[in-house]
Amino acid sequence: MEWLTIGAFAKACRLSPKALRLYDELDLLKPARVDPETGYRYYAGAQLERARLVAWLRRLGMPLARIREVCALPAGPAAREVRAYWARVEAETAVRRDLAAFLVDHLSGESRRDTTTMLELRYAARSDRGRVRPSNQDTAYAGRRLLAVADGCGPAGASASAAAVAALRPLEDAELAAGNVLNLLEDAVRSAGEAVRRVARGSTEVGTTLTALLWTGSRLALVHIGDSRAYLLRDGELLRITHDHSVVQSLIDEGRLTPEEAESHPQRMLLAKALPGGSADTPDLKLHEVRAGDRYLVCSDGLTRAVRDERIAELLGRGEPADAVRALTEAADAAGGADNVSAVVADVVRPTGPPVPAS
Ligand code: MG
Repeated sequence: MEWLTIGAFAKACRLSPKALRLYDELDLLKPARVDPETGYRYYAGAQLERARLVAWLRRLGMPLARIREVCALPAGPAAREVRAYWARVEAETAVRRDLAAFLVDHLSGESRRDTTTMLELRYAARSDRGRVRPSNQDTAYAGRRLLAVADGCGPAGASASAAAVAALRPLEDAELAAGNVLNLLEDAVRSAGEAVRRVARGSTEVGTTLTALLWTGSRLALVHIGDSRAYLLRDGELLRITHDHSVVQSLIDEGRLTPEEAESHPQRMLLAKALPGGSADTPDLKLHEVRAGDRYLVCSDGLTRAVRDERIAELLGRGEPADAVRALTEAADAAGGADNVSAVVADVVRPTGPPVPAS
């Protein structure tokens, strides 16, 4: 057998001798032989493949403990682990990217303010118990500045969703100065979490989703946790602007499930994040540039589980916001939806008169 010194082996697998000594100590890559007299480490040529895999995984930024798990697997399952790891990195990066975009926009927002100050929202909200559920645990709200949907679960679900939306209501009248929008949103969501925690009284079954859009006077800031959704209808095209925080969505992201399989998955109702949640249940924050003519929809899963996106796009385009919320909630009912259903619709318009209040 050909023995490679640690220096030669390091060169061949592009790891440093220092890293190789560490991996030996961590049982990640043991030398094939250690000279009992000198303590020198020797590696076999056949170990190069594993060493190169370790080096590549390090370049991905994978933690050593995880690398050890991946290296212990046969090729197929190892490939799945790498894909799952990367999906998680991308999801986390997306959240940070949105936050960075928010900050860039926030810090440079003054210069673009003039072009959009003349816009305002026209809105309507509707929440319906549906035919099957004994009560409505959704809360929907639309106001001059705030659009929100919360979908409560557990025995006090209705109170939980109402408490979350109520905690955001002060934003309607808050002083949204350029410097404090981000702080205000964070504080409001924290208050919402605390309010839901009080309602839950220690029960882990009680919680709520919360998806809200806040009109800052020139942009729409989005706060989102759970599997309620926000969509934008622009030039006839429907764009979803939220990512579901659900267990099946995580599995889809990791390539372990197809969207079709997710529809009938036994855990399809399980949320990955919700309020009040733990410290890892951080909401997504995004900022959206608006255009006159944009139409926004915020809705609960009672709509999106019953009505397909193509049909939502069709119904959302109908008439005034009040017409659209009616059409959407009725469509969920007609499709045999078994859940409460809520829809909030808002148009970005150039002001022509007083705003149309919610029906
Ligand atoms: Mg629901």
